Amino acid sequence: MLLTITTTATPATDLGYLLHKHPDRAQSFEQSFGTAHVFYPEATDERCTAALMLEVDPQSLLRSRTSVNTPDFALAQYVNDRPFATSSLFTVALGRVFGSALKGRCQARPELARTPIPLTLSLPAVPCRGGADRARALFEPLGWRVAAEPVPLDPGLPGWGDSHYLSLTLTGTMPLSEALSHLYVLLPAMDGAKHYWVDESEIDKLLRAGGATGEDDDGPGWLAAHPERGWITRRYLNRRDRYVRTALARLAEADDRTGDEEADDPAVEDAAAAPDREERGPSLAEQRAGAVLAVLAAERATSVIDLGCGSGRLLERLVRDHTLERITGVDVSTVSLEHAHRRVCRGCHPDGRGRHRDLFADVTGVREEGSGRLPRPELLVGSVVYRDARFAGHDAAVLMEVVEHLDPSRLTAMEESVFGTAQPRVVVVTTPNAEYNRHYEGLPEGAFRHGDHRFEWTRAEFTAWSEGVAERNGYGVRFLPVGPEHPETGAPTQMGVFTR
Ligand code: SAH
Repeated sequence: MLLTITTTATPATDLGYLLHKHPDRAQSFEQSFGTAHVFYPEATDERCTAALMLEVDPQSLLRSRTSVNTPDFALAQYVNDRPFATSSLFTVALGRVFGSALKGRCQARPELARTPIPLTLSLPAVPCRGGADRARALFEPLGWRVAAEPVPLDPGLPGWGDSHYLSLTLTGTMPLSEALSHLYVLLPAMDGAKHYWVDESEIDKLLRAGGATGEDDDGPGWLAAHPERGWITRRYLNRRDRYVRTALARLAEADDRTGDEEADDPAVEDAAAAPDREERGPSLAEQRAGAVLAVLAAERATSVIDLGCGSGRLLERLVRDHTLERITGVDVSTVSLEHAHRRVCRGCHPDGRGRHRDLFADVTGVREEGSGRLPRPELLVGSVVYRDARFAGHDAAVLMEVVEHLDPSRLTAMEESVFGTAQPRVVVVTTPNAEYNRHYEGLPEGAFRHGDHRFEWTRAEFTAWSEGVAERNGYGVRFLPVGPEHPETGAPTQMGVFTR
């Protein structure tokens, strides 16, 4: 990732003051995800170019993540909903390396920082889903002349068409800080994904960079006045509705509108409208089931027992996996089992008389339209804290959001029954990560996510318990985060994968 900034102001080498980086020196700045280099390919009084180059080190990126062992790295990307977004890494580097320039600070020459200068910004590879038109719609209203060329997927194979990268050149005259703030906001918006957790502090970052915090008296700032501000805000804030609404309301304020008019503002309405499901992404429960399925596939499980299967969220997906020879669901609650039965045996007893006659009968198959016979899960009333011969003979066992429903004094009994007696080759355990709870609005400190939870563990507690279980029963264990991972609190769900 490369950005070059060229000016023909006189003397052009003033760019060095503005960037706080001397034109004669090449400098490197270590980031957690790689190294940012700043150097000047040319520095004369007539023309001066500064380059910011970011070398992303995939190893560091990987190391900065939670314990993810091969061959599950691909899986971790699946488990977490954040792809590695190149633009947002670059923007982080931009903010760190050119922080003072971005804020328009220049102690040596304060007037210089406020002076519009002729600038050319070049970015040879910018991820931009909307193509050249989108880039023009974003930069032209800000006073840039835009040259945007799609980068072909493979120059040798024209038939493959274009990638979603643009070669972008922006030319205009404005203070350097303003130019940088445009990149700071618009690059991640164009990319539409961030490699890190987006929290409330991003609203302030956005408004500050957009000049809309009212700190200076020079108008509403460029973002509030931008015709695409709704789109930009939504994308910058990773489509988090609540943040988008707050940010747009504050932008409207900055733009000197009254509260009433704000509601009629199509940009506000547009962005506040509930995004469709696809955009919002799968729910945490769905992600969890997906993560468990992915682990079972990675472990090549041939049969699965879902202990504490509840209403069958996982069973429903397991029955569609044609590689599984046997599927069993167990729960203490017959009501839950009935729900599960309805879910996995849809259509098998369309008599609509509530309780299915063969709820716990030994049935062998369920006919799915168009897909022939699928293995029908055996559904058993049972408890994981009692040794049960029916649990044996499965390749893998799943305890998805179940351990936290057990009284802590019964955990040893569960360990004995599952790990000591049934002894499946693979055991997958998921449980809430208590550290993450502070991100749940309206959940008082120290409270649990669910009334029936007997405890919720921090990552350290879950790790300690899991390692003890593994050690005592001859298993190895590794951990995977499920759901969006916050740098401090981790992901909402923690998953332990035990293998014998
Ligand atoms: N695994 C499901 C349900 C989780 S809710 C899912 O993730 O969607 C917890 C489930 O554990 C409930 O259905 C509850 O009835 C069940 N459960 C609680 N104690 C249990 C026990 N001792 N043995 C088996 N199931 C139990």
